[in-house]
Amino acid sequence: LVIVPVVFSLFVAISSLATAPIVRPIDTSTERLAQALEPSLRKGVTPGELSPVLAQLIDGGAQLPLPVGQETEDIGEFVDLAGVRRITVLSTDRMVLASAGQEPLAVGQPLDETWQTEWRLTLDQAAASGCVSARPIDGPLPEAAACRMTAADGQVLGTLVVENNMDARFQFGAAIGRVLGITLFGASFTLLLALPVIVPVLLVALGIGALIARQISRRVERLTQAAGDVAAGNYARRVVVDREDELGRLSGDFNAMAAQLEEREQALEAEAARAEAALAANKRLVANVSHELRTPLTTLRGYVEVLEQEHGDRLPQRDLAIIHGEVDRLTGLIEDLFTLARAEAQQLPLVITAVAVKDVVAQVVEKLAPLAQRNRQIELIDATPPDMPAAQADQARLEQVLLNLVQNALRHTPAGGIVAIEAAPTPGGVAITVADTGLGIAPDELLLVFERFYRGDQSRARETGGAGLGLALARELAHAMGGDLHAESTLGRGSRFTITLRRA
Ligand code: ADP
Repeated sequence: LVIVPVVFSLFVAISSLATAPIVRPIDTSTERLAQALEPSLRKGVTPGELSPVLAQLIDGGAQLPLPVGQETEDIGEFVDLAGVRRITVLSTDRMVLASAGQEPLAVGQPLDETWQTEWRLTLDQAAASGCVSARPIDGPLPEAAACRMTAADGQVLGTLVVENNMDARFQFGAAIGRVLGITLFGASFTLLLALPVIVPVLLVALGIGALIARQISRRVERLTQAAGDVAAGNYARRVVVDREDELGRLSGDFNAMAAQLEEREQALEAEAARAEAALAANKRLVANVSHELRTPLTTLRGYVEVLEQEHGDRLPQRDLAIIHGEVDRLTGLIEDLFTLARAEAQQLPLVITAVAVKDVVAQVVEKLAPLAQRNRQIELIDATPPDMPAAQADQARLEQVLLNLVQNALRHTPAGGIVAIEAAPTPGGVAITVADTGLGIAPDELLLVFERFYRGDQSRARETGGAGLGLALARELAHAMGGDLHAESTLGRGSRFTITLRRA
């Protein structure tokens, strides 16, 4: 709105410099001025009398005796003196009668040598033919004009010389002034003219813009809400695709993405349900099988004992001992499996009471210390402090867990080592730790030791250890009593298994 009128006006202003130069031809103006001054000269003027009038003319207007028919007009209106530098009136004998403008000539004196030489040709021509204009050799613009002043009866009264302002600074300033003036005027005028059209168009455009913006922001808001719903897990959420534009396409893509997510979510849910069902079936199977095996195993053990008692002397003792050992092992395994299955199903009957930790530890140490010393030369130490608070636990199960942890420690500690049971109160509970100076467990193995049937050194463990159920069962029992079991270990330096329980 602003740039177009400004550029247009600027263009007009600059082109005006070419078509209407700052310094105009002054022939006509000089001729008119000569006519205007003629009555005064005819009357007879003293040297210098006309100078102030001429000065006023250069400054922009003065009343003079005017030619017939133009009495009332301001002389400035028909004598254009813009850009004039100096006006000089000479008498017939080339004496200066009046001079005004820049560097006026001395009045009452004959034209000095320099000007005589400079103006001779022009003045002679003017005297001969009325009006002439002098042009510089190197430019198209008139430098000066000279007009013979003649009375009505043909008497020559003198010569009028009007000189243009050829100063470059003046011309440049005037040019800039004109360009600025035209540009400002043109631009404001055009804008003013266009205002009655621009304002309603602007208002309508603003209104339409606001409407479109509101529509777009509503649609974006709907999309944002839908995205939030999907992010919150509502994969069935869709948006209405009501248009074929970019937002419409985005909405379509959004719906396709939500549909894919929904499909995947359903597939995952189905998969998880299948896995859960399989796990539950697996646990049921283990529970049922271990339960069903208990009775025949008990019967088997009974028969083996009867055979031993009644026909012991007639049967090979070594075979009997092997059968006995294997039946015992199988019974232990089935018992562990059965307990584990019931603990996992939260069906293990527990008697949770306030258990004196120190007493339980003392019993475990008492049970295992002599054997450890005799068979493995390992010292089993009770390192519980005397003022240990009681824990919430099932006493028999806690003892079972501790026995298991100590047996493991003894099994994995070389002869001459130490196994200690430590205990300490924790915020809101107690912690009992079985620490050994044994082989330790590698970090990657440490994550696996609580898995069912995991055995560290497979071949060695098969001969010496159990089936890899001990730690899985111990942790499950700790959970069932409202506590936890975790392990820390440094390979080659020993392990620490800590059971935490709630305080009674
Ligand atoms: P099992 O003793 O029947 O092999 P566990 O579940 O009790 O099964 O132990 C699993 C494995 O954890 C063991 O085979 C052994 O490799 C490792 N482990 C358990 N306790 C220790 C310990 N104190 N020091 C080193 N390794 C141990």
